[in-house]
Amino acid sequence: MKCPVCEMDCITPAKDLLATLPSVFLPCADCSIRNLDKRLPLPTLHYEPPCSCGKRFIDEVFAHMYTIMVEEGDLKQTDPLISVGTPLVHPGFAMDRPPFLPERSLILLTKNARKSTAQRLFLEVPEVRGVVKKDDFIPGITSSNLHSVPKVYELLAGCDVRADVYPLRTGPVVMYKQQTLIHIEFPRMGYPKIRAVEQHVGQPPVSYFVDACCGVGTLGLAAACLGVPHVVLNDAWYASAFWSAFNLEINRSYLNISRVKIFEQLHDLQRHPVMADPIKIAETTGEQVIEVYQGDFHKLYTVLTPGSNPVTALDLFDKNDKNTIQEFSNEWLKRVGGEIFVP
Ligand SMILES: [Zn+2]
Ligand SMILES: [Zn+2]
Repeated sequence: MKCPVCEMDCITPAKDLLATLPSVFLPCADCSIRNLDKRLPLPTLHYEPPCSCGKRFIDEVFAHMYTIMVEEGDLKQTDPLISVGTPLVHPGFAMDRPPFLPERSLILLTKNARKSTAQRLFLEVPEVRGVVKKDDFIPGITSSNLHSVPKVYELLAGCDVRADVYPLRTGPVVMYKQQTLIHIEFPRMGYPKIRAVEQHVGQPPVSYFVDACCGVGTLGLAAACLGVPHVVLNDAWYASAFWSAFNLEINRSYLNISRVKIFEQLHDLQRHPVMADPIKIAETTGEQVIEVYQGDFHKLYTVLTPGSNPVTALDLFDKNDKNTIQEFSNEWLKRVGGEIFVP
């Protein structure tokens, strides 16, 4: 599928992507493994090429990137290997051992590469999908104050779109995201947020589910995949609203829908990065009704079906913001009713 960011073929629909699991990061019989201590410098500026199967152990890929970054003067030969940056693999899921990376399966998040070096990493290291400049802030909306435009990371080379895979009792769901615009959340062993959704959706599923601060749509889509007939997803941040809509399309084969109508594309949405009054970004036609809004969750009640008593997930970025959570919960239960939970 054409990627909305780089316009290349870097997006795979859910079923095809899942068909590559779980062997996607496993070695072949000929793959070699060299374990390197990330806290130490690379012993010599040397790396092995990928195996004939096309994969290479992650430490060897780091050795390759380290060598280029030293050659370009972005790292010193005394810097530890970890200074290369943080790897975000594609597709991401909780793994119990380090991966053997196939082509274009790694987005590097780094403080230490200049743009020209990042270009070299993208062109010369086959596993690299994109290079993102890491900064000292978290990209996207990080508080319930919507008056300032959130800061984002810079894409230095390649593409910053990748997917995470979340297991559900009905089968896995695939969530694409753009790493420069969305805060980074590593899938955790046991997937506690997904388990919370499964528990609150129940069996048979509740009739109406709201994901009030949906990010790229993981919890709302999980509810939809679990069979909830009416799901509303909402986020004030344009990138979250767009990728939620996009992920509906990606996972459509798991849903009882005939079509996903997306009303605004990424470049349209960029013109209103943060919205207060909710506007509809996407909706489905077919048996299941799934709607995506961009807006402040305090105003979301204005677009909900009256008397629907939904189960609402409130996944705020700042879980320590107990006052906002309490105030909003009271306000929501008075206006909308149903049940609200913090996953
Ligand atoms: Zn792309
Ligand atoms: Zn191999």
